[in-house]
Amino acid sequence: MQAYGRRAIPVLRWLRRLSEETGKRIPVRLVKGAYWDSEIKWAQERGLADYPVFTRKRNTDVSYLACMRLMLTYPRQFQCQFASHNAHTIAAATVAAANTPFELQRLHGMGEAMYASIVAGAPEPRACRIYAPVGDHEDLLGYLVRRLLENGANTSFVNRLADNEMPISRIIRDPVEDAEHERANGEAPKPLVRPRDVYWPERRNSTGLALDSAAVRTALLAK
Ligand SMILES: Cc1cc2nc3c(=O)[nH]c(=O)nc-3n(C[C@H](O)[C@H](O)[C@H](O)COP(=O)(O)OP(=O)(O)OC[C@H]3O[C@@H](n4cnc5c(N)ncnc54)[C@H](O)[C@@H]3O)c2cc1C
Repeated sequence: MQAYGRRAIPVLRWLRRLSEETGKRIPVRLVKGAYWDSEIKWAQERGLADYPVFTRKRNTDVSYLACMRLMLTYPRQFQCQFASHNAHTIAAATVAAANTPFELQRLHGMGEAMYASIVAGAPEPRACRIYAPVGDHEDLLGYLVRRLLENGANTSFVNRLADNEMPISRIIRDPVEDAEHERANGEAPKPLVRPRDVYWPERRNSTGLALDSAAVRTALLAK
């Protein structure tokens, strides 16, 4: 489940109903999402009305916390698996879960020091599954490039942590408090230009139809 997707919460609700209908507990790995740049570019190429993903990192962090809480509310429907290398996100999971069981996940070769203290050093040690990529060099090259893009981004937790100039208090700021503060002070930055307006004012982008959206299909059929 990719928390950067605007549909993350509705999809989780759908999964909860599916679990109840089938009487099966569903394992769900909650991530933020590794294909943000691609999602943005595809939406622009298709001339969609809007982006399917959040366009600010902070909003993805807030969405992750909301998805996490929803999953923890239904421990009989979801086997909760929280994957992240962000210390704030992991701390938030530990606090939100209290006694509800959940699993942490990290990638092989990343977050070792942080997870060592969580898994072995904490008063209540947590289970952590480690994912290792498997494949030939064609698959692994793509994987490596994704990790480089992810960790090279200046908004990434890992990147900010490596910046000695950045105060720790800024790195671990609560995204919800941050969002509330920004709204209260009217400090929201300019939003990302919508896919249909990427060439504006020179010209309008050609209009694409998101046929995977029921609302778009219904409107098209009605016409
Ligand atoms: C064990 C494991 C398994 C994973 N499996 C998958 C998987 O199956 N599918 C998948 O897609 N990813 C997967 N990932 C990668 C994951 O989605 C994240 O890309 C990665 O974990 C970075 O997020 P973070 O919480 O660790 O770090 P953070 O630095 O807190 O978050 C970085 C993330 O924020 C989001 N972001 C960055 N900029 C913006 C922006 N401008 N607007 C909105 N959002 C933004 C992106 O999702 C980016 O990856 C996995 C990660 C782990 C640890």
